[in-house]
Amino acid sequence: MNDRQCLHIPLLSPPTEQLKLSALQNRITSLFGIRFPLVQAGMIWNSGWRLASAVSNAGGLGVIGSGSMYPEVLLEHVRKCKAATDKPFAVNIPMLYPDVEKHIATVIEQQVPIVFTSAGNPGIWTRRLKDAGITVVHVTASVKFAMKAEDAGVDAVVAEGFQAGGHNGREETTTMVLVPMVRAAVKVPVIAAGGIATGSSMLAAFALGAEAVQMGSRFVASDESSAHDAFKQHVIRSQEGDTLLTLKELAPVRMMRNAFFNEVQQAYARCATPEELKTLLGRARAKRGMFEGDMEQGELEIGQVGAAIREVLPAGEIVRQVMAEFNEAREELGQLRFP
Ligand code: NDP
Repeated sequence: MNDRQCLHIPLLSPPTEQLKLSALQNRITSLFGIRFPLVQAGMIWNSGWRLASAVSNAGGLGVIGSGSMYPEVLLEHVRKCKAATDKPFAVNIPMLYPDVEKHIATVIEQQVPIVFTSAGNPGIWTRRLKDAGITVVHVTASVKFAMKAEDAGVDAVVAEGFQAGGHNGREETTTMVLVPMVRAAVKVPVIAAGGIATGSSMLAAFALGAEAVQMGSRFVASDESSAHDAFKQHVIRSQEGDTLLTLKELAPVRMMRNAFFNEVQQAYARCATPEELKTLLGRARAKRGMFEGDMEQGELEIGQVGAAIREVLPAGEIVRQVMAEFNEAREELGQLRFP
């Protein structure tokens, strides 16, 4: 990729920490009690208490990704996050997690203010979490599930398009198509996700009807992400086309091409059964790749937009850059005049 193909991630002058960024008020900032409508996605092996607290301290919403944490590990991360920030933060609980009941008990007992549920039926846990006074958001990749989440009583939905990394929808609906359709179908506020990594893409999501954005890939390339440094470096050197959505027969996942990915492709070429794919995937591939740094045999989950990210930065600086660029893009668009 040459420089012109990169997304515009501006070099701001004066340094962004000196810029005064005014808070933005809408239903999402009020619901979460945050300054900026910017959510850091809960990501396995990437988003522990360090990343979540850094994002929350910078005015966004930090999210602990509990899918890769044993129950006692989640408890430790929640406690450390509380000690590291006095701002609201959230925990993401994928419903397909084997010990989901224990995670639910932990967030209730620890009075975590906000929970994002994903990868499963929102009807199962939403009421219990709401009864405990927790704000609940469900991550969905289709209009049908967004409506189901609203019926279950969630406070907001994340509409996550096909561009996103990690777990993904089978229907392959892109963010641009999904967000306005979800917005039209539900009354609760919509958080757009998938392919968003800059202030200008955030503004585009707002134009589609979103009231906040959720960014994952951009925060993988942060100092505070718990991913292995080899993975962060791999992401910032990646190119357009380096990720594909695969393994739909198991749990559809967007991952980077590598030796393991090629083995999956070869398995498809010989018409492997879902059972054979499961055996090939084995156990703990994601940990091996993203956490332990095996760039060839591990599962490397990142969004399409990973190809446009070129540096690893402190998470707080990412929040400031995105919000500064959002304001800049808003002003530029406001000056558009038609003859
Ligand atoms: P695997 O079954 O291949 O491996 C399980 C991994 O999760 C291991 O690395 C294990 O750590 C860790 N783990 C944490 N808690 C538990 C537990 N209670 N029981 C068993 N293993 C546990 O699954 P994946 O790595 O593909 O996915 C792990 C989980 O992450 C899924 O259950 C799901 O909840 C979530 N997930 C979420 C995604 C998302 O985008 N939000 C994407 C993919 C998965 P160790 O190796 O130390 O034993």
